[in-house]
Amino acid sequence: MSKLIGIDLGTTNSCAAVMEGGESVIIPNESGGRTTPSVVAFTKNGDRLIGQAAKRQAVVNPDRTISSIKRKMGSDYRVTIDGKAYTPQEISAMILQKLKSDASDYLGEEVTDAVITVPAYFTDAQRQATKDAGTIAGLNVQRIINEPTAAALAYGINKEEPQKIMVYDLGGGTFDVSVLDINSGIIEVLATAGNNRLGGDDFDDALVEYIIDDLKRQYKINARKDISVLSRLKEAAENAKIELSSLTAATINLPFLAQSKDGPINYEITITRAKFEELTSHLVRQTMDPVRQALSDAGLSPASISKVLMVGGSSRIPAVQEAVRNFMGKEPFKGINPDECVAMGASLQGGVLSGQVTGLLLLDVTPLSLGIETVGGVFSKIINRNTTLPVKKSEIYTTATSFQTTVDVKVFQGERQMTRDNRLLGEFHLKGIRRAMRGVPQIEVTFEIDTNGIVHVTAQDLGTGKSQDITITASSNLSQSEIDRAVYEARMYEEQDKKRREEAQSKERRRKEKNQNHDDDFVDGDLH
Ligand code: AMP
Repeated sequence: MSKLIGIDLGTTNSCAAVMEGGESVIIPNESGGRTTPSVVAFTKNGDRLIGQAAKRQAVVNPDRTISSIKRKMGSDYRVTIDGKAYTPQEISAMILQKLKSDASDYLGEEVTDAVITVPAYFTDAQRQATKDAGTIAGLNVQRIINEPTAAALAYGINKEEPQKIMVYDLGGGTFDVSVLDINSGIIEVLATAGNNRLGGDDFDDALVEYIIDDLKRQYKINARKDISVLSRLKEAAENAKIELSSLTAATINLPFLAQSKDGPINYEITITRAKFEELTSHLVRQTMDPVRQALSDAGLSPASISKVLMVGGSSRIPAVQEAVRNFMGKEPFKGINPDECVAMGASLQGGVLSGQVTGLLLLDVTPLSLGIETVGGVFSKIINRNTTLPVKKSEIYTTATSFQTTVDVKVFQGERQMTRDNRLLGEFHLKGIRRAMRGVPQIEVTFEIDTNGIVHVTAQDLGTGKSQDITITASSNLSQSEIDRAVYEARMYEEQDKKRREEAQSKERRRKEKNQNHDDDFVDGDLH
């Protein structure tokens, strides 16, 4: 196995780490940053930008810049650029490819293997999509692990005393809470809950809404109509939000923001922390529901949790920390870097897989219940939420009508009693059931979830021994041929990118030769 890297594929930022000398080390990107914005852009002249370069030009190129693609993973959403439709997996693969290439440069050898993290609340389709993104990027995804588990791994490795901890992870686009049990090298997830549509972006949006109202009141303009104004507002709102984590007021200054009847608008507004807290208090409150849920699923009270780990950039918001402090009755633990610990945990898990790290065992759980549809659209659970992985479980079902020779096995994921309220993961038919009165045939349905949280289902007619099994590919996921095509395209780009890089390098060499110059060291470092 080549070097295995741990990747935190975040909504807003991504981060990679590797085990070096028994320690997890963050891999800097080509510009030295420890995290890389999860942003992809297509410039008008056909270049593809990823990371900081893409984020930097987002304001001037908003309709060809893609951010927060993680929110679309596992859905059939497509981004169309110049007539080509990209899946969320392909866009994510571009980010992964950049992390892979930066890591290969840093390590001086080709990186091919990775452990990638996902929010604990990700459904099967979302996990599968993440794995596919890795494959498209040319990575062997050795394991998909939950982000809070990775954070706990980064933290828990040195801990000796048995304890229960909570991981409160508020990132850019997702929120997760996990309750974990740490006991002599074993980290067990007792419960997870969350909301994969809640994160720092919503705090930015609340501020943007406030500014839009203010612009309307002061200048009678509708900022919603202008995408480049909106992009500037969004960027300014995020910066103000970050400032408000350490200051009590932040000033937003946007010269020439838009045109009003009386000329250009040079917009300025000061937001106090109190105002920001008022605008976002509902979001902070919303994070408390999954906290309650996770505790109740784990059968624990706030008092039995010894530490609350704060993870994700948005956990730095003072009102968030205060809400956690009030609810849990203890000071949130901030001893680990909220932006880096997930990638570090993923690389530690990589170390376990490659044998570099010993004495550490990871037990993960299913985030949602799984089962099949029975008569009348009733959801029959086979594996309950929060069951430790890997798991295999079977139930016996029978036919609903007499002389029925086929059954439809519809696999659902969710917590609601009726299947229409849950998510359909996939379906298949079991044919050739022996003709009999209803209720006689015995059909055994077996669910198996592997350590990545990916589901395999088998149905067998115990009378005839006939069986049918599927590897679930939810309708939103990609087929093998689609993955193959995307892998091929990504490779083509890799070649093109490499060629571009080589061209740039030889251009630089020529320049150096011409100048016969003295700045060799600097130029070499810069071109890497
Ligand atoms: P993550 O997905 O963990 O990288 O978190 C990114 C989110 O954290 C984005 O919404 C950032 O705006 C937000 N964030 C980063 N630093 C801070 C900070 N100091 N205060 C508030 N939010 C922050």
